[in-house]
Amino acid sequence: MTADLTTRVPAFSATVEPVTLCEHVATLANERGTGYAVARFAVYDYREIRSSLGTSAATELLERIGTRIKSRLEPADMLSVLPDGDMLLVLDSPDRLEKRLHELVEQGSGWTSTVYGQLSAGAATARPGDDGETVISRASLALEDAGRRAPGTVTVCGTPMETSAHQRVSLDIDLRRAVEADRLTVHYQPVVALDGGRIVGHEALARWPDQERGWVSPDSFIPAAERNGLITDIGLRVLRRALRDKRRYGCCRNTWLSVNVSVVQLEDDAFARQVLHALDQEGMPPDELRIEVTESALLASARSRAQLIELRRAGIRVLVDDFGTGFSSLASVRRLPIDGIKISRELLHDEEPGLPDPTVVRAVRLLAAGAGVTDIIAEGVESALEVRTLAALGMPYAQGFHLGRPAPASRALRWPGTGLVSPN
Ligand code: C2E
Ligand code: MG
Ligand code: MG
Repeated sequence: MTADLTTRVPAFSATVEPVTLCEHVATLANERGTGYAVARFAVYDYREIRSSLGTSAATELLERIGTRIKSRLEPADMLSVLPDGDMLLVLDSPDRLEKRLHELVEQGSGWTSTVYGQLSAGAATARPGDDGETVISRASLALEDAGRRAPGTVTVCGTPMETSAHQRVSLDIDLRRAVEADRLTVHYQPVVALDGGRIVGHEALARWPDQERGWVSPDSFIPAAERNGLITDIGLRVLRRALRDKRRYGCCRNTWLSVNVSVVQLEDDAFARQVLHALDQEGMPPDELRIEVTESALLASARSRAQLIELRRAGIRVLVDDFGTGFSSLASVRRLPIDGIKISRELLHDEEPGLPDPTVVRAVRLLAAGAGVTDIIAEGVESALEVRTLAALGMPYAQGFHLGRPAPASRALRWPGTGLVSPN
């Protein structure tokens, strides 16, 4: 027994082994049920500190933090250091939880002889029926939230946060299953030339029909796929499917196909090669493909720009999507490797439901002309009056519910007549 204890020397004098702390939480859960809290602390950039300054500097930092936190605790509280450098704290009372955490974060953060340690913290109070593990994982969830905000932040886990975490996890699981079973599909929305109403292209839009959720909006599943890495697979499937559909409905020759590409896909060095391979397999000329990327993706990194440059060299055109949302700057039109701009509905319509703002249209056209950018598309066009206004202002192309809603290939790619849309 004694030998056992001596081999389990706590990492630092102020702390106990994680296993001891977990046993303590389990006992509290069994014997008391509620009336205690668990907090988890993380040192900002701890892994980088350890890998760049070495283990002893990192250990000195944790020791200092542990000692300083411990000096503010009650005798029945318990602190432990986890192998990843985070710290777990069991508070014997949940009173004034948030205020105490702020104090501990402030007290624990500071300099060693070599480095500054900035703490963040997440915490959860025990609820009736919780076992110890549940309280610890809620505290970890709260810490993740704090980590997403700013260093120094304190988050106490509440029900909405837990619900949204559950929803996120279950969306991730369902999406993965849908992708593996190839249940995602693609709809197409026409892009129309405003002088005459000819369909010049189609945008491929991913669609997820789920038995329980119904049609899940891409605005929720695409960001999820970007977070969990599925976007690479989804993006390639959408591209292949769209190329196949376009070939199948031969009536759409001489029109372009536009696919949305996320910044995560562009970070993959194999991306351009995969796109060119898919085009080759389907026998589609590169100049019939458009890639839509957001401006932030274009500005993201040298690697993603290199992928775009490679695609453009092969003849594929690059369009900036949703131009005018986020942090667009007109100057960037000149600097970026692009061939076209899709002007967002938000930029065109300063005040809903007003008409397109002529100043915006003129400014973008002028700038685009100066930069040799030829494809200018107004997005989100919802009425005949908007179409007429845009046409009168010399806008070459438009896309929107008024000109055609996104629809399955069997309908969208077989547009009535010879591909003419009546703008009125
Ligand atoms: P986006 O690329 O800007 O696509 C246009 C969105 O606006 C589509 O929403 C379309 O249905 C909608 N829209 C079209 N016309 C109108 C209109 O007149 N009024 C209004 N209010 N909306 C209109 P959707 O299909 O829900 O897609 C949302 C976003 O999800 C897309 O925005 C795109 O950023 C992303 N997305 C969709 N499919 C893919 C994909 O395969 N890969 C990637 N990376 N992103 C995708
Ligand atoms: Mg788009
Ligand atoms: Mg768009």
